[in-house]
Amino acid sequence: MRIGLTGGIGSGKSAVAELLAGHGAVIIDADLLAREAVAPGSPGLAAVVDAFGPGVLAPDGGLDRPSLGRLVFADADARAQLNGIVHPQVRRLAAEREAALSPSAVAVHVIPLLVETGQQGSFDLVVVVDVDEATQLRRIVTRDGLPESEARARIQAQASRAERLASADAVIDNNGPWNRLVPQVARLWRRVRGSA
Ligand code: ADP
Repeated sequence: MRIGLTGGIGSGKSAVAELLAGHGAVIIDADLLAREAVAPGSPGLAAVVDAFGPGVLAPDGGLDRPSLGRLVFADADARAQLNGIVHPQVRRLAAEREAALSPSAVAVHVIPLLVETGQQGSFDLVVVVDVDEATQLRRIVTRDGLPESEARARIQAQASRAERLASADAVIDNNGPWNRLVPQVARLWRRVRGSA
């Protein structure tokens, strides 16, 4: 069973993934794999430096994420170029992880840009974590300490809430407090187990 879990930045994907892991799901996190894809010495990092120049390297030879982040959040073409390098590597790493699982495992792929990259058809179930924009902004600003304008820019750089919801087989409403999230995830898990 393969589940694609997505939602906007700050919607609560990590929170939902953690709850699902508590039920026994295996989490395959695209953000973690994206870091691995550009780790020091990786072909992914070499390709990023080729595309964006040595200015995106930190003194220790790793990726200087803040400077690359500034570059790509300000420029849609640069963002597309970076994604073109990183996404294929992430898919390769995810496939490797999945190949190592038992056939009865429930694999939850946490993919922030699942809808943007057109992967809706790749999963048995697409789960969208949904929040309204005010809640999303508040949680990003609190979590990341970003100015509101930057948090807003990051939201704008992603698919709209409506686009994401249009791809959902199941929706987790995370506008409420934690005690409303927990039972929704438990219900989702029962649905997943029921159809396994
Ligand atoms: P994502 O992985 O989608 O970016 P997170 O799971 O990190 O989002 O959640 C964003 C922030 O909001 C985190 O600081 C998290 O602790 C907080 N958060 C998530 N869900 C809730 C909730 N239901 N109530 C309060 N805070 C929440």
